[in-house]
Amino acid sequence: MEMIKVSHISKNFGKLEVLKNISLTVKKGEVISIIGPSGSGKSTLLRCLNNLEKIDNGRIEIEGKPIAAYENGKKVHITESDIRKRCKKIGMVFQSFNLFPHKTVLQNIIEAPIVVDNMEKEKAVRIAERLLTKVGLSDKRDVYPSKLSGGQKQRVAIARALAMQPDIMLFDEPTSALDPELVGEVLKVMKDLMKDHMTMLIVTHEMAFAKEVSDRVIFMDEGRIIEDTYPEKLFTNPDHPRIKAFLEKML
Ligand code: ADP
Ligand code: MG
Repeated sequence: MEMIKVSHISKNFGKLEVLKNISLTVKKGEVISIIGPSGSGKSTLLRCLNNLEKIDNGRIEIEGKPIAAYENGKKVHITESDIRKRCKKIGMVFQSFNLFPHKTVLQNIIEAPIVVDNMEKEKAVRIAERLLTKVGLSDKRDVYPSKLSGGQKQRVAIARALAMQPDIMLFDEPTSALDPELVGEVLKVMKDLMKDHMTMLIVTHEMAFAKEVSDRVIFMDEGRIIEDTYPEKLFTNPDHPRIKAFLEKML
């Protein structure tokens, strides 16, 4: 089953072509890392997948259903409610955590299930408590984000995304804002999700992690996917000289 199918999408910001004819598919349970230089379009690609950005051409399907589509250059109408319903299957975690500062950890996690999904509060709290155990932060339930370390904030952000019971998780440089000693605790939570067979797309600069955990690694450069292959190949013998140069710089 294809969880995500991206066909020939393009995206412009004004005159700037940020995504150029991108295609990729993600199957259920796959873990895919996206790497490449700054400005190559990695974040924009993730943001298009959950409709935070609109594409200008091509087609995106989530679990077989379109969330954005053009045919012969003309936009296909998809209702906002269908888009919202399909994108609800996708959780996203950002580099900058984006927690609500005036809400406690628990309140952060129960907010969307209650407001977006009309879930009963008691049920939302039960789910949140289970998720806090999963990310190792049960004792922080009633604390405000300002009292947490970066690694703890990011684990809360992951729990918050999971509270909507997504089928797909997108991570945009989840550890880039963290002190080095806090990176491991976030990567561990992500590995636990992989054990649960979560479908994951991860933009990252953690090359060792990408090599270890990914089923495939996608390399983006100047708005294009220039290689999409298994990690051993990409990290040891990439086809493209740009990738070799990039990896050498990262070491
Ligand atoms: P990456 O995540 O690989 O660093 P981005 O997707 O953030 O790349 O950005 C790709 C290009 O699009 C960059 O040139 C960036 O400046 C530009 N860009 C991103 N977001 C916007 C925006 N909202 N408006 C205009 N340009 C943008
Ligand atoms: Mg980015």
